[in-house]
Amino acid sequence: MVEIDAQTTLVGIIGDPVAHSLSPRMHNAAFNALQMNWRYAAFRVPAAGLSQALRGVVALGMAGVNVTIPHKESAAGVLDELDDLARQIGAVNTVGVSGSRLLGFNTDGAGMLDALTSDGGMPAAGRRCVVVGAGGGGRAAAFALAAAGASRVTVLNRTERKAQSLADAVRRAAPGCRVEPAPLLADVVERVVGDAEIVVHATAATMSAAMGGGGGRADWLQVLARRLHRGMAVLDMVYTPAWTELLGAAKAAGATAVSGLSMLVFQGARSFQVWTGRPAPLDVMRQAVGLTAVGELKS
Ligand code: NAP
Repeated sequence: MVEIDAQTTLVGIIGDPVAHSLSPRMHNAAFNALQMNWRYAAFRVPAAGLSQALRGVVALGMAGVNVTIPHKESAAGVLDELDDLARQIGAVNTVGVSGSRLLGFNTDGAGMLDALTSDGGMPAAGRRCVVVGAGGGGRAAAFALAAAGASRVTVLNRTERKAQSLADAVRRAAPGCRVEPAPLLADVVERVVGDAEIVVHATAATMSAAMGGGGGRADWLQVLARRLHRGMAVLDMVYTPAWTELLGAAKAAGATAVSGLSMLVFQGARSFQVWTGRPAPLDVMRQAVGLTAVGELKS
């Protein structure tokens, strides 16, 4: 490993909480493999400090940062410039620096498409897709799938109003795609998952009571697990635990299960390229988060 010295270039991640993040491990493994004098650090920044922290990136001469929960949407309002996708999605996960300007990108959607194609063998073009969740991850997924030529994107969300406004925005951005919002209810899931070819799960529900911690799994989740079938790819953005119950249900049903870790690596690889201008060493990054070359989890 190249030792830290007075020439080391710093990048990192800003979030709250951030202690669980796998990004430092993944990016530092990449810098190490390429013998680069770069380091990636995690910064716990509360909402009130976001603006100052981002200006600090320029002031300290850092090359950029990732932005994660809860800052992805607020960061979009603080930066000097957003690329088209970040503007459409209304959220930023990657910040680059050009002179004294902060540039915002969103690599989540493209990372998700990369994971579906590489590990799921399922490019989105022409596919019937269901996106469960309309927060930052769900928004990125819906825009990316529609832009990639999906024939249909059904957006399901607990708060229906958010599914509707997301569907309206995606329809405007990709008029060729049929985009349908719906409430996240068991009977709706029953209806829309049966003929879907791609399911992307992007809610925080499975990390909480909905998975059984407080009163049993949510009805919609049980139906979702039951309706998965052969010939479809299921990507679970949630990667805590690395192998989720939803991925287990997908595998049991004969569907292709794509780990959120795969998406994490691909979105990170795109951030790496924004900062360094170099292609990321994907295999090294996959190993660092516990994925093998073909997307299976290391035992
Ligand atoms: P977010 O913006 O906070 O959105 C949370 C989503 O979860 C909303 O759609 C919310 O619905 C829904 N939700 C929360 N609790 C629920 C419950 N009990 N039942 C049903 N729906 C519920 O979060 P996010 O950034 O989209 O992240 C969502 C998950 O995806 C997290 O686990 C995150 O780590 C993961 N993620 C992974 C990657 C990756 O690279 N693998 C990238 C992005 C996100 P309402 O609108 O009704 O509140």
